[in-house]
Amino acid sequence: MKLKLNIKPVSEWLPGLKHPLVIAGPCSAESEIQVAETAIAIKEDTNCNVYRAGIWKPRTRPDCFEGVGEQGLQWLKAVKTITGMYTATEVANAGHVEACLKHGIDILWIGARTTVNPFQVQEIADALKGTDAVVLVKNPVHADIQLWAGALERINKAGITKLGAIHRGFHAFESAPFRNIPLWQLVIELRTACKELPIICDPSHICGNTELIPYISQKAMDMALDGLMIETHIQPGIAKSDAKQQLTPLQLKRLLNTLILRKPDSESAEFKSSLEALREKINSADEQLLLVLSQRIDYSKKIGEYKKANNITILQVNRWEELLKNRMNLGQVMGLNSEFVKEMYSLIHEESIQVQTEIMNVGRNNAIRKGELV
Ligand code: PEP
Ligand code: MN
Repeated sequence: MKLKLNIKPVSEWLPGLKHPLVIAGPCSAESEIQVAETAIAIKEDTNCNVYRAGIWKPRTRPDCFEGVGEQGLQWLKAVKTITGMYTATEVANAGHVEACLKHGIDILWIGARTTVNPFQVQEIADALKGTDAVVLVKNPVHADIQLWAGALERINKAGITKLGAIHRGFHAFESAPFRNIPLWQLVIELRTACKELPIICDPSHICGNTELIPYISQKAMDMALDGLMIETHIQPGIAKSDAKQQLTPLQLKRLLNTLILRKPDSESAEFKSSLEALREKINSADEQLLLVLSQRIDYSKKIGEYKKANNITILQVNRWEELLKNRMNLGQVMGLNSEFVKEMYSLIHEESIQVQTEIMNVGRNNAIRKGELV
């Protein structure tokens, strides 16, 4: 994927932003007192200087708490005055953008349910034209990296260069143990497509509970992401939205204190040469791996020819079941993760079936391509 964006680094977004950038605060602004108390405790306990709170909440069902609306912007303004923290909130239409800019909100983010809709993103982009706003774009609900990239492009084309992405996980039918499954491969793809684009992780919406937040936060740091957005509430137990996933300010403090921050690279000659030697080993292991894979595909072709000669179906589900079980066991003995082995063999098996399909139906497939069979 190609993604050309004109981006300013986080250090140029607002004076005093730290690395990693930590944005903390409640899922929703609920009352003036809850907003102020949470902010004061976060500032005192962690010294984090960016405060989040949702004012307009996109809830799945209309009878849920849908946010306090514009009055909450006054409460965020007060947080700025009392604590000196920057403020951040979610915008989902042009009216939200205008209200936030009027009230001096420092960072606007586009939520996962909005990123899925190019009409809405364009409306927000148009409202942002001519401003110097800082904007973060959450990934869309489902795993469509083009939609994510498209939303970033729309905002960037409106002249917004203080722009970043937020990885908040993706909806999946089988996402357990997470609420929204983290897809690090997509994050790597986005990072590769645009190296300058700051990417922040939202462990709260990935996890949906508090227990896994330290694990995902550390993973995000190890993936060299630029920051974390973590839902924090003065009394998570009575929060009006996302109660199960919010940390207390003290829990946030503990989490931040136990995070291990590593350098992106090292200038040390010894480090570079040892790493190079290990990478050479990986390169040669990959060569062997590809060679063995191509031999395996050759065997599949031979099997395809043999089955064709004997008029036997390609899929023989008992053999596949037995093979997978056996390879997962073997992999486990060799210290490999069984899920990884399972996924790898599913791909290999799919390719093997495809190769056999081609071999067994050569003439037929050519005729299909030419439209001769209908
Ligand atoms: C939120 O940040 O509170 C929120 C609604 O997030 P998302 O858009 O990721 O669901
Ligand atoms: Mn939330």
